[in-house]
Amino acid sequence: MTPDGKPEGEQWNFDASNRKKWSGKPPAPAPFRVEPDAVTRDVLQLVDDHFADHFGSNDDFHFAVTHEQAQQALEHFIDFALPCFGDYQDAMSDHEDWLFHSILSPYLNTGLLDPVTTCEAVVQAWYSGRAPLNAVEGFVRQIIGWREFVRGIYWLLMPGYAQENRLGNTRALPWFYWTGDTKMRCLHKAIDASARNAYAHHIQRLMVTGNFALLTGIEPADICDWYLAVYIDAFDWVELPNTLGMVMHADGGYLGSKPYAASGKYIQRMSDHCQNCHYRVQDATGERACPFNALYWHFIDRHRDDFANNPRMTMMYRNWDKQPEQRRQAIISRGEWLLEHIEEL
Ligand SMILES: Cc1cc2nc3c(=O)[nH]c(=O)nc-3n(C[C@H](O)[C@H](O)[C@H](O)COP(=O)(O)OP(=O)(O)OC[C@H]3O[C@@H](n4cnc5c(N)ncnc54)[C@H](O)[C@@H]3O)c2cc1C
Ligand code: SF4
Repeated sequence: MTPDGKPEGEQWNFDASNRKKWSGKPPAPAPFRVEPDAVTRDVLQLVDDHFADHFGSNDDFHFAVTHEQAQQALEHFIDFALPCFGDYQDAMSDHEDWLFHSILSPYLNTGLLDPVTTCEAVVQAWYSGRAPLNAVEGFVRQIIGWREFVRGIYWLLMPGYAQENRLGNTRALPWFYWTGDTKMRCLHKAIDASARNAYAHHIQRLMVTGNFALLTGIEPADICDWYLAVYIDAFDWVELPNTLGMVMHADGGYLGSKPYAASGKYIQRMSDHCQNCHYRVQDATGERACPFNALYWHFIDRHRDDFANNPRMTMMYRNWDKQPEQRRQAIISRGEWLLEHIEEL
């Protein structure tokens, strides 16, 4: 804020400047690494001894484990990634796991870093000219606007919130969420990175693994358990509202006024996954058509009663309704087939 109470840059929100696709340039910085000391190595060995058959691997464990190391991780982020954080906040890459994200959530959630001092350090980078406003505002918005918001929702609505399933989903989570063994490149990449790093960035969680679970009607408890199991930053108070509310819209729109449902076009716009995929993102029907496309329209069609009167969804229904009847039927049949053969995708 400026001293006279106005937002810096005369705008409250720079979300529209946070949506660039990343083409490999500028190069993404290497993530901050700490080589495990003897105590950490002992703990890693214990985990290997007891949980060797669980999801993921700790072969490349390099996270900070003390406040001092977490502070260095924050400084590393400010020096090397923050300047581009805003531009590429929503980007995904076939070749790069971490992009310009801070990788600070594990430390914030375990108390190794304090959210307020973290935000203050990032804001200071704006005042000293080390980072642009769309990056600094974007980062602070994630913490104050999302992290604190979902924390409030959790403590306000639990324990009943965990039981919500307003879209009436019953499907079990496909097994490939545990193996990454799917021909859908975007999902394979997000799950594979989650297994290697215990990390996937927000757009992979929301628009790839989350979006697929939403479109296919996975039971909220199943997909919540998955997110809770696979990420290093996972704690119920932050995972649950993000998954059940933001991703699955299982709370009837309490957390978000519209579901984050998207077709393959969104993933194509924000990543280079589609060019390496078995499926064709431009197609909605046919054997090689991108599953996200027919599943998206199937979701829109089967939830007409839930969403047709939502002002933020009317354009989707208008677009759907104006397609020729024969095409709509072909897309719905393809959607049905995909749902029946979900394990084979
Ligand atoms: C389905 C789903 C499940 C999620 N589960 C968790 C979880 O268990 N624990 C967790 O910390 N985050 C969770 N998130 C939010 C977000 O994906 C992670 O906080 C983020 O990817 C962590 O990486 P980062 O530190 O590099 O984040 P950055 O992209 O660098 O963002 C900076 C910080 O903002 C905060 N933040 C950003 N988005 C959110 C959000 N939606 N909710 C809460 N905090 C946010 C985090 O503290 C993060 O460290 C989830 C999101 C989704 C869509
Ligand atoms: S074509 Fe579809 S399934 Fe393949 S990467 Fe693109 S969005 Fe994902």
